[in-house]
Amino acid sequence: MASTSLCSFCDVTIVNKQQIIENEYARVLLPLKPVTNTHILITPKRHVTYITELSSEEFISIQGLLKTMLDTFHDLFNAQGYHIMNNNDPLADQRIPHVHFHVFYRSENDISPFDILSKKAPRQELTNEDWYDLIKRIRASAQTNSKSQNRLQGTYFV
Ligand SMILES: [Zn+2]
Repeated sequence: MASTSLCSFCDVTIVNKQQIIENEYARVLLPLKPVTNTHILITPKRHVTYITELSSEEFISIQGLLKTMLDTFHDLFNAQGYHIMNNNDPLADQRIPHVHFHVFYRSENDISPFDILSKKAPRQELTNEDWYDLIKRIRASAQTNSKSQNRLQGTYFV
C-alpha cells in the first residue's frame, strides 16, 4: 500500500469539507472545481491506488453510492443518466494515487461535461459561496435518499 501522508482523499480536513455522503467502505466528495453541478468523485475509504486493488465490498459500497447520487441528482436536476470516468495509472492521467471515479450525472438538454473539458462549451466557475450552497443542497438531498435506500435494502434482505 502506498503512503497516505500526502493523499488528498485520506486528508481528514479535505474529506470533512468536501464529503457529501459516505457508507461503510466508500464516500462521495464534491470536487473544489466541479466541471458541472452534477460532477462528483466516489472513492473507497481505504487508500488504494488502482481499481484492481478494490475488494468486492468496496465495489458494492461504490455501487450503492452511485445509486444514491443518481436519486439525489434526479431530485435536484432531473438527472437520468451518468458517465463514469476513472484515470488508472499516471500514464492515463491519474494524478492522485487513490482510486477515484469521476461521475457526471446527465439530464436532458444539459451541457456535456466532455464539451466543457474539451473547451467546446464554457465552464461555469463557482464562487466560494456558490460552492458551499451547492454542497449544502446536495448533502441534504443525498442524506434523505441514503436513508430511504437503506430502509428499502433493509426490507429486501429481511
Ligand atoms: Zn488516499
